[in-house]
Amino acid sequence: MANPDFESNARWRDLDKLLLRPGNLVNENFEPGPQLRSDLQEYARVLVVGAGGLGCELLKDFALSGFRNLEVIDMDRIEVTNLNRQFLFRLQDVGRPKAEVAAQRVMERVSGVNIVPHFCRIEDKEVEFYNDFNIIALGLDSIEARSYINAVACSFLEYDSEDNPIQETMKPMVDGGTEGFKGHARVIMPGVTPCFECTIWLFPPQVKFPLCTLAETPRTAAHCIEYAHLIKWDEVNSGKAFDADDPEHMQWIYSEATKRAELFGIPGVTYSLTQGVVKNIIPAIASTNAIISAACALEALKLATGCSKTLSNYLTYNGLEGLHTKVTEFFKDKDCLVCGPGVLLELDTSITLQKFIELVEEHPKLLLAKASVTHRGKNLYMQAPPVLEEMTRSNLNLPLYDLMDKTPKDVIHITGMVSKNDKKTSCLRKLRVVFKGVDVVTEMDTAGGA
Ligand SMILES: [Zn+2]
Repeated sequence: MANPDFESNARWRDLDKLLLRPGNLVNENFEPGPQLRSDLQEYARVLVVGAGGLGCELLKDFALSGFRNLEVIDMDRIEVTNLNRQFLFRLQDVGRPKAEVAAQRVMERVSGVNIVPHFCRIEDKEVEFYNDFNIIALGLDSIEARSYINAVACSFLEYDSEDNPIQETMKPMVDGGTEGFKGHARVIMPGVTPCFECTIWLFPPQVKFPLCTLAETPRTAAHCIEYAHLIKWDEVNSGKAFDADDPEHMQWIYSEATKRAELFGIPGVTYSLTQGVVKNIIPAIASTNAIISAACALEALKLATGCSKTLSNYLTYNGLEGLHTKVTEFFKDKDCLVCGPGVLLELDTSITLQKFIELVEEHPKLLLAKASVTHRGKNLYMQAPPVLEEMTRSNLNLPLYDLMDKTPKDVIHITGMVSKNDKKTSCLRKLRVVFKGVDVVTEMDTAGGA
């Protein structure tokens, strides 16, 4: 048996090089010393959102970087096609929840780390669940899910009376994303750096090829394939639905695309490219996930310990042609609905919760449907589940002012649905509510009741 003290010192030798010594690039609040490592291990709580290609890497990287209190949330079960890159899973795990298997595998290999899995949708957790973590790490492939977690993390942010963000309420996030040979890693410090929503234009909706290009001036193999898929199929097989999982259908598209490519002298149409274009398959590459996840875990370590300044604030990696990496500093959108101080609503003290919900749903900046309302963690009205709806329904006829314990000015959280690119998605919005008349009286009182 190895000496446990020796083993533990040897195990953290590299981490200690970062945490025991001062340096020129450290944060202002950095205090080197053995206490820092034990604080990291004891107190830093990280949530990993997603247990797929990036999530598996993130959990492993966090566990090996000294974090010991980890949780992971993912709603998916393991599929055979995951096994080439989601390296914590084996053939016999197919069908089991990703979060549970990933947590179990990392705990088996890295002693001392504790990982709590959550096998559910991110929206199924109460918003307060997310407030329990020091850092939230995102290993997601969906824009909607990122947008939701971002809104949750930003909802904890509070502003002082001069509209400056309050440091203690900032919930830092590290976000990774990969697509084939490309990837990004970013640090989001709500109130300081741009949040996901401030730079939503970085993720434009997927553009389909214009039909006129497909019909008249194809230039690439993909154009020929989409011509066969989107135009020719309907012309020839009127009424018959195309099934991307039917090999005969795919073969038909392939041969039509080949004819088209020959006509225009375009090289490169193959059966596998046909599948890729029609099913919009972007190959997932294990090494890209590893690189991006390593960058994210390192940023989280810097955030937790201050051992170096974090990246500011958006790293892109491109291994498609040669290798390029670049860090870009993006700026906050000061009018952002998500990370800003929140839309300000001036209300009469007599307004009922029902009327308030109608006001919010019709507000031109908010435009959300099915609004549920919470105040300081208290559910004022919930649209779902039915049992909560029933419990909170009687509040609808009560004045909002009373439901907020006669607070003259405070933050209210609204969850609901918004339509984005013809898709309905969950959203969370922060509102600042001020009751008319009340605030003035309070100020006069504190000024001596003049
Ligand atoms: Zn923002």
